[in-house]
Amino acid sequence: MSDIINILPDSVANQIAAGEVVDRPASAVKELLENAMDAGSSSIQLIVKDAGRTLIQVIDNGCGMSDSDARLCFERHATSKIQRADDLFAIHTMGFRGEALASIAAIAQVELRTRQTGADIGTRVVIEGAQIVSQEPTACPMGTTMTVKNLFFNVPARRNFLKKDAVELSHIEETFRRITLIHHDIGFSLTHNGKKLYDLSAGSMLQRICGLFGQPMKERLYAVEEETDLVKIRGFASRPEYSRKTRGEQYLFVNGRFIKHPALSAAVEKAYTDLLPDHSYPSYFIGLQVDPSRIDVNIHPTKTEVKFVDDHALFAILRSAVKRAIGQFSLATELSFDTPEEFNIPPAPKGYTPQQPRISYNPDYNPFRASGSQTKIKPDQLERLEKLENIEEPEPLASPQEPERPVAPATGTCLQVQNRYIVTPLSSGLALIDQQRAHERVLYDRLTQSHNHAATQSQTLLFPVNCTFSAADAEMLGELLHDLKDYGFELSPLNQTTFVVTATPADLKEADLQPFFDQLLSDYKSATLQKFNNRTHSLCASLARQMAVRTGTVLSQEQMQQLVADLFACPMADTSPSGKRIITIVKPEELLK
Ligand code: ADP
Ligand code: MG
Repeated sequence: MSDIINILPDSVANQIAAGEVVDRPASAVKELLENAMDAGSSSIQLIVKDAGRTLIQVIDNGCGMSDSDARLCFERHATSKIQRADDLFAIHTMGFRGEALASIAAIAQVELRTRQTGADIGTRVVIEGAQIVSQEPTACPMGTTMTVKNLFFNVPARRNFLKKDAVELSHIEETFRRITLIHHDIGFSLTHNGKKLYDLSAGSMLQRICGLFGQPMKERLYAVEEETDLVKIRGFASRPEYSRKTRGEQYLFVNGRFIKHPALSAAVEKAYTDLLPDHSYPSYFIGLQVDPSRIDVNIHPTKTEVKFVDDHALFAILRSAVKRAIGQFSLATELSFDTPEEFNIPPAPKGYTPQQPRISYNPDYNPFRASGSQTKIKPDQLERLEKLENIEEPEPLASPQEPERPVAPATGTCLQVQNRYIVTPLSSGLALIDQQRAHERVLYDRLTQSHNHAATQSQTLLFPVNCTFSAADAEMLGELLHDLKDYGFELSPLNQTTFVVTATPADLKEADLQPFFDQLLSDYKSATLQKFNNRTHSLCASLARQMAVRTGTVLSQEQMQQLVADLFACPMADTSPSGKRIITIVKPEELLK
């Protein structure tokens, strides 16, 4: 019998192993930035083209490499960071496996230029698909420049698996945020297709957060600080009133590394118990420092999970630190900025005297009169309605047959229950309508149609409002300006990160535009990534969600009737744009019971 086992050539073995470390441009970015930090750099530039497909370049001013190290660094398991197995339990660097450069060089065309501190001349190595093409002396600045071109040029399957540029770029940006947030003492920049998205100078963590997420962050956060024998905690958590509808801005770090740790995240959220509305989440940026021997980071290179020896104690310490921070007014946020002009409080107009707030009420109001804006309901009715509310919503796709379409009411009297539901009689029973979802549907339909006709009414603001964003959000907003105009918004860029809003749609009752746009962009990003692959629909869904009347808003009889009439004019009156049920019908026989 003939032998059938071969030892794979190094190039093939490397290519296979490379897939473990580098699965998309963002993971190559992570490895290169970590190497630059491990080299002790104080300034690191990241330059990418086509979301990292054609170019990823990292320029650092760190310690550089000798001629022979410049060649050796591309070998698998070549590392200067650990020497023995014991070192694994006291890791002080970001890298330690010695696999990253070997992996990247196996699947891309790489050029390394490096000059060691004190050396007269540097060295240039070119390596392609794990084969060294050339090495020669070269004049170059101190530090290292790693240039990675055409990632996956020899692995078409992997290349074809990459997502749209917008998605790959958002992974790169997220990687960039995860690294730069906690290493705020190092200057970083990110340039994409020739445009500088971030230019972050070394500074405090709060300055770094503002550099990444926009200046308004500095008024929205409390400092979180704690020091015990087990752990040192430093970071920021959002004031409860600035919670968000998505879990976007939640960052935990351990010993300078971004981690995902559901139990520790839960500890932070627990600190906000009873302070946040339903389905709202705090933002936080919190770094923990623990003894390296008490954690295990020796798991998969692209994973962010970490194991702690003392996780129960850490949970309790973290929760109480956040609790204390949000329970007490902290001046730390204001004090770490020494540029007073950053505080942009407009002066009161001349001759303006502040007024005592007044409460107005209607002395003739009689809750039992039919024309009153709110009608009182009897306790037993309320109980019945409460039971209804607790009925589980069916999975949107669970029922195979077409749902029975409700027949429009003759816009009879409506009743508002719990400032959340509108109850109105139909020929088929009693309709219970979720006001927020209903309005979302009406606005969504109106917006998607008006996009074709550019017919939305706009109102000019008496005082234009400035809104400031992170560079990446500002860029996204810039791309949406034209579409937003169709919906009645007038915005123009003031500088790279600030826009001035001069008009909004007449429908928009929102007083505070900054949180409106922040949430709009965050919704738009998740809508784009998840449900809608059409930009107009993503934008309309996000706008409708932002502009809809909220649960808890008291509606007048006219407003309710208008909303019900508008809703029944929509072709898909029974589901909201995000697929939630709007109307529940209580059948006459159920009412009889
Ligand atoms: P690891 O970071 O796990 O050691 P890498 O493959 O990422 O493995 O890098 C291999 C070695 O190359 C590093 O241990 C380091 O000595 C050297 N190296 C890589 N990048 C740089 C850099 N930017 N500056 C100086 N040395 C570097
Ligand atoms: Mg490394």
